[in-house]
Amino acid sequence: MTSVLSLARPDILELQPYQHATWDPSLERMHANEMPWRAQGDNTDAGLNRYPEPQPRALVERMSRIYDVPASRVLVGRGSDEAIDLLVRAFCRAGTDSVVICPPTFGFYKVAARIQGASVTEVPLIDEGFRLDTPRVVEAGHQAKIVFLCSPNNPTGNLLDEPALLAICQGLAGNALVCVDEAYLEFSGRSSLAARLGELPNLVILRTLSKAYALAGARCGSLIASEEIVGLLKRIIPPYAVPSSTVEEVLKLTEAPQRAISAERIRTILAEREQMRARLAGNPAVERVFPSDANFLLVKCRDARRFLEAGKSAGLLVRDFSAAPRLTGCLRISVGTPEQNARLLAAVERT
Ligand SMILES: *Cc1c(COP(=O)(O)O)cnc(C)c1O
Repeated sequence: MTSVLSLARPDILELQPYQHATWDPSLERMHANEMPWRAQGDNTDAGLNRYPEPQPRALVERMSRIYDVPASRVLVGRGSDEAIDLLVRAFCRAGTDSVVICPPTFGFYKVAARIQGASVTEVPLIDEGFRLDTPRVVEAGHQAKIVFLCSPNNPTGNLLDEPALLAICQGLAGNALVCVDEAYLEFSGRSSLAARLGELPNLVILRTLSKAYALAGARCGSLIASEEIVGLLKRIIPPYAVPSSTVEEVLKLTEAPQRAISAERIRTILAEREQMRARLAGNPAVERVFPSDANFLLVKCRDARRFLEAGKSAGLLVRDFSAAPRLTGCLRISVGTPEQNARLLAAVERT
């Protein structure tokens, strides 16, 4: 089989990467034009006067352990958004190549493609269950470089069918990458498709600490793929991408005790989500509450504007998708604390 790298932009394959200042903690640094002293009050472990380690070993290893994949298959970046951007840049020639998306889905895939000058083919999810149109995705994927799939899908909340995801990967082997964004996987109780990477060289998985791990502000996401893809993306990720403050915070805040609390909170969110679903489904202002495998609910309202205003009057913001294709009247509610959820429900029930 030819390497998955044959799908990448030829000029990127040939690119001489930026040469970082050598990382050798056994020697004192007089090679990177840094100040030799810390800023007044800098209490970080590494010192913010120093450039961070490119692809920090300890962080990569922590992600490798959390996601149960070999460290050689992990690229860390500033959120999975950076990984989406890198993939499109490395694989799509501006003005020539394209990506496939399955709307309604996460908006950044399309924006990242457009920024790169790649065109976007849409193969909408089908029927009320927002299912994959597998044969059409495979057909469109043959003309594209990357197929972006999101499971559980944002903003619809549903998991995509695993046999369909595998069939798409297999159907596009050697032709296109299949990027499965698992930003909400922790809420679904399912296991990651990353376990199948060995058989599927064109599969790319995205994970993030922004949702289940409560670390959105740290900006830390992981791309999990073949060593070849990870190696290529390491060559084009901006120099010193992950700030040392992020590395230190993430290492402290993803230890076993925090992970146990995170698991406990996920159970609370899921219980709250089901209570909210029942209450909303019984509300005459609500036409439909879609099933969710994530930490949010997609709700079709009879009058979305009124629902939004009711939320705002209680000091709460929910996300308006009512003008999006296929989502007429729909709002996306992120499950909050029990107090916030109760306040939102009360406000909506009063109107
Ligand atoms: C929130 C979200 C992301 C962004 O994750 P970051 O790691 O914070 O960049 C990626 N994909 C989907 C589907 C999301 O909803």
